[in-house]
Amino acid sequence: MNEEPTPVMLVATCRTSGCSIEGLSITAPYYPNATEPTYRAVCGECMQTITDLSPIPDDDEGNE
Ligand SMILES: [Zn+2]
Repeated sequence: MNEEPTPVMLVATCRTSGCSIEGLSITAPYYPNATEPTYRAVCGECMQTITDLSPIPDDDEGNE
Protein backbone atom coordinates (compact mmCIF):
# COMPACT_ATOMS: atom_id res chain seq x y z
CA MET A 1 0.00 0.00 0.00
CA ASN A 2 1.32 3.38 -0.92
CA GLU A 3 0.22 6.27 1.16
CA GLU A 4 0.06 9.51 -0.69
CA PRO A 5 1.83 12.27 1.17
CA THR A 6 -0.63 14.80 2.43
CA PRO A 7 0.15 18.39 1.60
CA VAL A 8 0.04 20.81 4.48
CA MET A 9 -1.08 24.36 4.01
CA LEU A 10 1.65 26.64 5.30
CA VAL A 11 2.30 30.33 5.29
CA ALA A 12 5.68 31.12 3.77
CA THR A 13 7.30 34.49 4.22
CA CYS A 14 10.32 35.52 2.18
CA ARG A 15 12.95 37.19 4.31
CA THR A 16 15.42 38.00 1.58
CA SER A 17 16.46 41.60 1.83
CA GLY A 18 15.46 43.46 -1.29
CA CYS A 19 13.16 40.77 -2.63
CA SER A 20 10.05 42.17 -4.26
CA ILE A 21 7.85 40.09 -1.97
CA GLU A 22 9.98 40.43 1.13
CA GLY A 23 7.80 40.14 4.19
CA LEU A 24 4.73 39.02 2.29
CA SER A 25 2.99 35.92 3.52
CA ILE A 26 2.16 33.37 0.86
CA THR A 27 -0.09 30.47 1.67
CA ALA A 28 0.47 27.32 -0.31
CA PRO A 29 0.38 23.55 0.10
CA TYR A 30 3.67 21.88 0.97
CA TYR A 31 4.61 18.25 0.89
CA PRO A 32 6.80 16.84 3.63
CA ASN A 33 10.33 15.96 2.61
CA ALA A 34 12.04 12.75 3.55
CA THR A 35 14.90 14.74 5.01
CA GLU A 36 15.15 17.79 7.20
CA PRO A 37 13.89 20.39 6.94
CA THR A 38 10.58 18.65 6.61
CA TYR A 39 8.96 21.54 4.85
CA ARG A 40 10.86 23.67 2.45
CA ALA A 41 9.82 26.52 0.24
CA VAL A 42 11.54 28.46 -2.49
CA CYS A 43 10.64 32.03 -3.17
CA GLY A 44 9.27 32.48 -6.67
CA GLU A 45 10.75 35.94 -6.89
CA CYS A 46 14.29 35.69 -5.57
CA MET A 47 14.59 31.88 -5.80
CA GLN A 48 16.02 31.73 -2.31
CA THR A 49 15.00 29.10 0.18
CA ILE A 50 12.31 30.29 2.52
CA THR A 51 12.87 29.05 6.02
CA ASP A 52 10.08 31.10 7.55
CA LEU A 53 7.23 28.63 7.31
CA SER A 54 4.40 28.60 9.76
CA PRO A 55 1.02 26.90 10.05
CA ILE A 56 -2.04 28.83 9.01
CA PRO A 57 -3.53 30.74 11.94
CA ASP A 58 -6.59 28.84 13.03
CA ASP A 59 -9.09 31.66 12.98
CA ASP A 60 -11.16 30.50 10.05
CA GLU A 61 -14.81 31.09 10.73
CA GLY A 62 -16.01 31.81 7.25
CA ASN A 63 -18.11 28.76 6.54
CA GLU A 64 -20.85 30.08 4.34
ZN1 LIG B 1 12.00 36.34 -2.15
